[in-house]
Amino acid sequence: MSGPTPRPGILDIAPYVSGGNQVKDVGKLMQLSSNEGALGPSPAAMQALKDMAGELHRYPDGGSTKIRQAIAKTYGHPIENIVCGAGSDELIALLLKSYAGPGDEVLYSQHGFLMYPIGAKAVGATPVTAKETNLRTDVDALLAAVTAKTKVVFVANPNNPTGSYITPQEMRRLHAGLRPDIILVIDAAYAEYVGKNDYTSGSELVDEFDNVVMMRTLSKIYALASLRLGWAYASAPIADVLNRVRGPFNVSLAAQIAGEAAVLDQKFVGDSRAHNDKWLPWVTEQLTALGLTCAPSVTNFLLVRFPDGAKNADAAWAYLAERGILIRKMTAYGLSHSLRITIGAEDEVKATVEAIRAFLKG
Ligand code: PMP
Repeated sequence: MSGPTPRPGILDIAPYVSGGNQVKDVGKLMQLSSNEGALGPSPAAMQALKDMAGELHRYPDGGSTKIRQAIAKTYGHPIENIVCGAGSDELIALLLKSYAGPGDEVLYSQHGFLMYPIGAKAVGATPVTAKETNLRTDVDALLAAVTAKTKVVFVANPNNPTGSYITPQEMRRLHAGLRPDIILVIDAAYAEYVGKNDYTSGSELVDEFDNVVMMRTLSKIYALASLRLGWAYASAPIADVLNRVRGPFNVSLAAQIAGEAAVLDQKFVGDSRAHNDKWLPWVTEQLTALGLTCAPSVTNFLLVRFPDGAKNADAAWAYLAERGILIRKMTAYGLSHSLRITIGAEDEVKATVEAIRAFLKG
């Protein structure tokens, strides 16, 4: 049989399976599997969406001007260096499409976000991982894994699914060790949650160097995952390239309108952070007291290691799913002994802790 054949590498891709795709009827479950913001979107964003009617037959602003203005104002970056995408997933794909191809290598840390290898394979490039140390990005291991073929290095900071972060000094050391023709992509999807003095999003490196991009998303603390909106703060040459390869209307009107209102409502972001600051330590303490090992997290999720044997991670996942709670299996990340729990609303995290307690005792 002869028929259309995809390019080499495409059939090596294991499709991304979201937490919601692992169960029959996700709508009936408490969803703590995808790190979406616990409080839902800002009321201002919801109102802006409601007021949107009447514009649906028009294409959205292809330049995403107002949302970029809101980002520029809130985050203090020059608007011309901000490029929006349909989620940061799209920006990952656009960066790889632009800067990597067959024969090239795309480097990231072990237990890094799954879209890095998927995106690399989709353009025919080879994903390469560097070992972590204690579930933390290891700068020396990354630098040791750089070859003449390396084109793009991804560092999620903080990292998903481990919840750990590296310091500005470590990030700078990584950058200093890379050739100027290699792009360093700092994926700061969870930056707004981090309350550490020795953390920065890495935007200062974009200010200084032409080979750095920082990415953010409105899917996490802004809780607009369904609308698909992410943004990159990139050096002028990289922003120029992204604007050449992106679709002309790659961000929907709904995403632009709700995103603008959400980014301008920093009071709500503060409330969401305060919620996380309260419940992340609580869940960590409760699960640690139950004898489980929680990886220290600065994000809105927690990687929890279960014991081997009857009380293992798979059994815990199934027990919780039967009781209406969906958390994330980590098999695709090579962490099958662990589960990742999103810090949801108060009733959700309490129900999750209780269910895990009952599972371990049962
Ligand atoms: N980067 C990281 C580290 C993530 O965890 C996620 C979401 N799981 C993304 C990027 C993609 O986010 P978005 O919804 O903006 O595509």
